[in-house]
Amino acid sequence: MDAPVIGLRVGLLLTTPWVCQIIRLMMEHEAAVPTERREGACNLCGASDAQPVFTGHDPLSGEAFPVVRCGRCGLSYVHPRPSIERLSHYYPEAYYGKRHPFFANFMNDLRVRKLPRLRGAQRLLDIGCGRGDFILRCRARGWSVAGVEQSHSPVIALKAALGIDVYEPDDLASIAAESFDVVTLWHVLEHLPDPASTLAEVRRILKPGGTVLIEVPNFGGWDSRLGGPTWFHLDVPRHLFHFEREPLSRLLHGAGLTPQRWETFSLEYDAFSVVQTLLNRLCSRPNHLFQLLIRRGHTHARSVKDTVVSLAALPALLPLALVVSALAARRHAGGVLRVWAEKRGLFAVLHSE
Ligand SMILES: [Zn+2]
Repeated sequence: MDAPVIGLRVGLLLTTPWVCQIIRLMMEHEAAVPTERREGACNLCGASDAQPVFTGHDPLSGEAFPVVRCGRCGLSYVHPRPSIERLSHYYPEAYYGKRHPFFANFMNDLRVRKLPRLRGAQRLLDIGCGRGDFILRCRARGWSVAGVEQSHSPVIALKAALGIDVYEPDDLASIAAESFDVVTLWHVLEHLPDPASTLAEVRRILKPGGTVLIEVPNFGGWDSRLGGPTWFHLDVPRHLFHFEREPLSRLLHGAGLTPQRWETFSLEYDAFSVVQTLLNRLCSRPNHLFQLLIRRGHTHARSVKDTVVSLAALPALLPLALVVSALAARRHAGGVLRVWAEKRGLFAVLHSE
């Protein structure tokens, strides 16, 4: 056998395991992110054997929506849910509300501090950027920023004034691959009709070694267990999915994103969530105090009674809520799930196998 043939055979022998490994990883990735699902099938595992958990009520419309849990993987979600076209009716202009600027800036600065350290000229994409408050704080600290938001959001109208790129959700696929260092989703993933597909897109547009930072309400937290259908963060049908740590971790892995770090404490939400969850048992509609605070247009006949009840009970509930939320955070059962996940390079993935 001459030298070139021997060399070719040795080369094939050495590279075949690597090629098989790469193909297996690609097939696993494809299997984990199915592109089509049956109506009502689990977004994570595709099973259709979900069991009822409870029925929640929309704080805005008062309509009832059942929440179910997948019997195979434990992911909880609204089922049946409104069609994509119908869902837009549950996001009226008033939904976006407006927080006091001091409070909004303080909370957005806390979020900026959660970002990976800025190294030179780096790009950040905030999916679900709302009015753009967070990305403007990021830009002020040196990040090159862009956002994604629904077309009827106020930020689209302000796009020119802000001087930043704001994509519509359907345009996510047009963003160049490996073009962002960090992608953030602050209380957004639970709103999306197909989180698995969105996370696959996030992986595509992240640079190798890039980070996605996600925060969602913690369906496994103490305030959720305390409230059940009256939980502050339930917010059906806008919150289509209700994440616990394990299903969210599997969803990230399935999209090719590796969780690096988890937190459950939120200064922004935890104590207030306990207060509002308890108040929801006393008021005629969920989340009345929250809607007052963010100045949502909310004129319901029973609003006056709910306002009186909320303000009267607040002094008694607040100390209790501070204690409960502090204990919950120590037990990793706070009101949110915050996770940093990395898009690992192919060599890092192969090395870890
Ligand atoms: Zn499932």
